[in-house]
Amino acid sequence: MPNDSNADKKDDHNCEERLNELKKFVSAGVWEGVSLIDWEDWHWQLRNRIATIDQLENLIKLSPEEQADVLLAEKRLALGITPYFFNLIDKHDLSCPIRRQVIPRIEETQSMPWERDDPCGEESSSPVPGIVHRYPDRVLFLVTDRCASYCRYCTRSRMVSNATGYDFHPEFERQVAYIREHKEVRDVLLSGGDPLLLNDDKIDEILKRLRQIPHIEMLRIGTRIPIFLPQRITAELCDILKKYHPLFISIHTNHPRELTVESRKALGRLADAGIPLGNQSVLLKGVNDDVVVMKALVQKLLMCRVKPYYLYQCDLVSGSEHLRTSIKKGIEIMIGLRGFTTGYAIPQYVIDAPNGGGKIPINPNYIVSQNDERIILRNYEGKLYEYPEPICLNVVK
Ligand SMILES: *Cc1c(COP(=O)(O)O)cnc(C)c1O
Ligand code: SF4
Repeated sequence: MPNDSNADKKDDHNCEERLNELKKFVSAGVWEGVSLIDWEDWHWQLRNRIATIDQLENLIKLSPEEQADVLLAEKRLALGITPYFFNLIDKHDLSCPIRRQVIPRIEETQSMPWERDDPCGEESSSPVPGIVHRYPDRVLFLVTDRCASYCRYCTRSRMVSNATGYDFHPEFERQVAYIREHKEVRDVLLSGGDPLLLNDDKIDEILKRLRQIPHIEMLRIGTRIPIFLPQRITAELCDILKKYHPLFISIHTNHPRELTVESRKALGRLADAGIPLGNQSVLLKGVNDDVVVMKALVQKLLMCRVKPYYLYQCDLVSGSEHLRTSIKKGIEIMIGLRGFTTGYAIPQYVIDAPNGGGKIPINPNYIVSQNDERIILRNYEGKLYEYPEPICLNVVK
């Protein structure tokens, strides 16, 4: 039938187009000989992760500062980069913002007196291993210590990747029992490590068990998988996730270049599964401490149907001084966003306070003066406006 053959032709054409697109991508990187089927297979991406100095040096010319540290990284936070994410590095640019996030540098060995292995004091709010209960109605639920790639500034580098021998073993039954007993907990945030690195059955099981607890209203997953390993966001995974609504996902992106065609597709699949998506960024020196970069990032996130949620001031984690930028800069970025772009694009800037203080919002000051009668405000353009307080009218008796 003519219709069928037309459809076939169209399919062939789409298929060919897709193959060409994929071919282009793979040959753009260093994995030129790799079959497209392998490249798109998340297990292949994980098996072929760059995890040793030899692998790294075969692929990129390291600076002396990087070379000196890659070996030492094994004792602090393992080296790990998926081939997919590695291909986003500009090999000729030593200050490439992607490179700075995943390739260790010698500065990581320098610890400042104010730095801690557990900068947010999570261990002191942990009633059972793998649960952090700091806020009244919600808990962090850690399910693994592995990630697809490792961020050099990771706030949980004391346990993530197990390079320090922390030996994290989540005690799932004890974690679930804790939540069962604590009826005030209505929101569970799965984190780690990266929960979406677990296999489908395990994810299904964890979400199912949590959903069986009557007082749990919402579930959340914190993950960098759509950025490090978008191949992992399969139709099958989305089918599992959407059984457990309301389920929210927070991704972690720091630079607009991370939002590739692949990531955008993965995020589209999650959004199509009805999952509200938010993004958490960490303010990092030489990566995104720039209002132009940040504006591009938040606008691109909205195009991927992701709402910028938090912008974190970098935690005081050991060996992170070279990646920290000033709070003044952070506020300047926030001033450069508000009013100048879509309100939906604007994240809340926070400091996760040392010693377990939790997240504290940091806002530019738009209040010029205030008394009982009026407030004087500054708008995004710097113009002043007056707004009167309500007066107490005398009601006639
Ligand atoms: C960030 C965090 C949460 C979640 O906080 P929200 O502001 O609700 O996103 C919960 N528990 C801990 C320990 C956290 O660090
Ligand atoms: S993905 Fe998250 S948990 Fe994993 S290394 Fe990066 S910041 Fe740490």
